[in-house]
Amino acid sequence: MVKNILWTALLGTVAVAGCSAPEASGDFDVVILNGRVMDPETGFDGERNVGVKGGRISLITDEPIEGARMIDASGLVVAPGFIDTHFHWTRPIGYKLALRDGVTTAMDLEAGAYGPRVGEWYDMHAGRSQVNYGTSSGHEFARTKVMQELPDEDLLDASYSVVRGRASGTAWFEKVATLEEGNEMLRLIDDGLRQGALGIASTVGYIPGATAREMFEVQKVGAAYGRPTAVHLRYTPGTVTTEPNGAQEILANAIALGAPGWQLVQELLVRMREQGHNVWGEIYPYAAGMTTINAAFARPENWVETLGNRYEETMQDPATGDFYDLERYRRVLAEAPATQIVLYKMDPGAIPDWCRLPGVVFASDAMMLPMAWDDEPTWDTPYDDLPNTHPRLAGTHGTCLRLAREHDVPLMQIIAASSYNAAKYLGDTGLESMKVRGRLQEGMVADITILDPATARDNSTYLEGTRPTTGIPYVLVNGTVVVDDSEVLRDVTPGQPIRFPAEDAGRFEPLSFDVWDARFLAAPTGFGGLDVPTGGR
Ligand SMILES: [Zn+2]
Repeated sequence: MVKNILWTALLGTVAVAGCSAPEASGDFDVVILNGRVMDPETGFDGERNVGVKGGRISLITDEPIEGARMIDASGLVVAPGFIDTHFHWTRPIGYKLALRDGVTTAMDLEAGAYGPRVGEWYDMHAGRSQVNYGTSSGHEFARTKVMQELPDEDLLDASYSVVRGRASGTAWFEKVATLEEGNEMLRLIDDGLRQGALGIASTVGYIPGATAREMFEVQKVGAAYGRPTAVHLRYTPGTVTTEPNGAQEILANAIALGAPGWQLVQELLVRMREQGHNVWGEIYPYAAGMTTINAAFARPENWVETLGNRYEETMQDPATGDFYDLERYRRVLAEAPATQIVLYKMDPGAIPDWCRLPGVVFASDAMMLPMAWDDEPTWDTPYDDLPNTHPRLAGTHGTCLRLAREHDVPLMQIIAASSYNAAKYLGDTGLESMKVRGRLQEGMVADITILDPATARDNSTYLEGTRPTTGIPYVLVNGTVVVDDSEVLRDVTPGQPIRFPAEDAGRFEPLSFDVWDARFLAAPTGFGGLDVPTGGR
């Protein structure tokens, strides 16, 4: 669907990708022969040989070339490695499944990591990751820290802390911040940006206690760095009016602040981009979302009474495939409030049309497995032995490739939405590592996904959610082959950090008066010649 994250990126910054001079001839680390090279940025689409050396694409030619490792890509497409901007399961087994799905860079821009531990999060990955990795500074974790007073050890990232934090109480999402609490949250978020986080991750759609003013101030911290705020929008899932209102809030803040952001209110985004604003939306090709059962929007007063859903048809236990009813919902909510659920809400018939939308980014929203955090499977756990989960984590990109074939969506559009579009938007925020990825061009980083356009497809389903995608036989990360003949190679960890440089001091200035419980930007005088009542909250 149209997912519910909103992002903005720095206005008016135009990134120029740095290209190094191509090698004149041979002696490559890896050579990819006879593949159909596709580059979304230039529109190039033709059969070429590709020479990789020192982690870069050093030559694209129709002349014969040789290298230490030769891959015959006859009949296959050679595409920029897929970039997933909404990836929560930042662990070796999660990355392994993502590689099978063609992903070379996986970043959590929606939930992110706990600000003060952003540097540690990157250190944890250094030299150990099979894909390029990145994270943002998490609003939810900062809020959980302040409102629930969890120790720092309990707050790290979505794979670890969403479950722990969300199970710790209700203040993290219900309580309106005081001045002191608000300033402390902003300071924690700022600390993550200072440590090089890619932007701010906000799940405000789960946090009714966050006032409009809070969200404005959160985005303001991101704006101080020119970095995007990615948002699971307020009122999502909601009505045809409230959902777009949630997007409008974030986009209006972003533009007022000159900050970067995203959500798919497609026309709004396209028009804003046409005016030079760096805003974008992401989609994934499924009719159901996945979340924890205590999501405020899943409460009966919203989910059933306002939105007209029935639990019996829309709320599924991923482990068993059973659907909930009201009684079971209430019981599980009370006993285990962070239990993961699959929630059907979108029209599956519309998915091929979403894939056609110009400028969208495909992202998986891959979540950690529905199990205890200290009992996580390892890289070696067979796919079949993993507990069941939403199929998106293993199959997002494979599904898009299959749907493109079945519905005549141009392959270049699918590849752009899988790789280049995210790189372009993020590169335009000044993120150097994204200026040299998402492009199949000489001089660019050799993150390369080699796929069979005739067979590439998802195999994961709602009942068998962890079956890997097939038809993507080779994946290179930073010039190193990580997926070889459809096998993910053990202990090959060329992943690099996707990160801004760390800084000595943060940029947040504490607020001097209490705005947290105040009406948002209530004008002392009318607007447009009319007196506009600000209304009750
Ligand atoms: Zn998510």
